[in-house]
Amino acid sequence: MKLEELPSPCYVVDEALIEKNLKILQGVAERTGAKILLAQKAFSSYALYPLVGRYLNGATASGLYEARLCREEMVLPLRAKGKLCENHIFSPAYQEKDFDEILKYCDHIVFNSWSQVEKFGYRAKAAGKQIGLRINPECSTQKGHEIYDPCAPGSRLGVTLVSFAKGAGRTTPGRITPGKTTPGGKASGESRTLLELLDGLHFHTLCEQDSDALEETLRAVERKFGSFFKNIRWLNLGGGHHITRPGYDLERLERCIRHLEDDYGLDVYLEPGEAVALNAGFLIATVLEVIENDISVAILDASAACHMPDVLEMPYRPPLKGSGEAGEKAYTYRLGGPTCLAGDIIGDYSFDEPLREGDRLIFEDMAIYSMVKNNTFNGMPLPAIVLRDRDGECRIWKRFDYEQFKERL
Ligand SMILES: *Cc1c(COP(=O)(O)O)cnc(C)c1O
Repeated sequence: MKLEELPSPCYVVDEALIEKNLKILQGVAERTGAKILLAQKAFSSYALYPLVGRYLNGATASGLYEARLCREEMVLPLRAKGKLCENHIFSPAYQEKDFDEILKYCDHIVFNSWSQVEKFGYRAKAAGKQIGLRINPECSTQKGHEIYDPCAPGSRLGVTLVSFAKGAGRTTPGRITPGKTTPGGKASGESRTLLELLDGLHFHTLCEQDSDALEETLRAVERKFGSFFKNIRWLNLGGGHHITRPGYDLERLERCIRHLEDDYGLDVYLEPGEAVALNAGFLIATVLEVIENDISVAILDASAACHMPDVLEMPYRPPLKGSGEAGEKAYTYRLGGPTCLAGDIIGDYSFDEPLREGDRLIFEDMAIYSMVKNNTFNGMPLPAIVLRDRDGECRIWKRFDYEQFKERL
């Protein structure tokens, strides 16, 4: 199938464009020795996990289901081909009912508080897992994006230095299988501090940022937590690194990584989501109707609220192929979705020709935070998911209908 023949609306994930991003990320990993993981919450099109796993070191999960998806679709298929990849997880609070299953899937388990380390840490170590603690460097590097700032006052994400220092020396009796020694070389049963239990530290504070923001954050991390680096083996720098964006300062990123490796002997992890699938997918939509109310409004079969929710939540204006800013080209339209929400508006765009019923529009950069966040509000159908291979050939990977809508209600 060619692009023109696809159902509307549909997401198109472009394999060649994903691979282009993966090559850039792999370059960073090769030049620095850092390990790079896919943050699945941004992009979970598991049809491409084998491809992702060929270039990256694995994936990270925000919860049990993503961890299982990585296990089933990346770790096991790659293992069958003789390649190993890692499965990491972070959660603000793990639940007892999930934890044994998480231990089955994951290699690295990152906790959000000392009490979670106390509750689950020994079990994770006894199962041979690496554990980490998420820290809060209290260094905000983004303005006007509070919802995406884990360093904002009162944040629930990551341990601040004050809490870190309070909990680090807390001792709890060892509870690892008798007879075994534990990390840090102590015999099990021997009392150890929570800090001694940790293999690494994790922070995630960036969102769509360049490496100057990372550098600034690292300075804060070093100043506050640097004295604990001798106690750990790895530092995970989280996501939000817009590494594959044209103009991103790769050299500065690599200097930051090398500094941690060379001056502290740390292994470094990065877990970008967006950067893996940035500018690598499309949402195809069709004009249903044009109405006039001082301005011209085109109603599409794709909805901001249902099919590109970050357009409203972030908010942002998605790029649209062949269009200009409002007023830039001859014909300007406000593009809106088919739901009841008055604010279901994608944005104002201009075109060389008037829009007509049946015209197809191609929204760009729609692989990230789209399929993973969409919904069926108003009973809207979910767009099909199409994979476009390296020759430009498209095949429908998933189709959704009434059953998926009804199933969830
Ligand atoms: C969201 C998130 C990521 C990925 O962020 P991107 O902005 O998509 O790169 C990585 N790690 C953690 C802990 C996250 O919450």
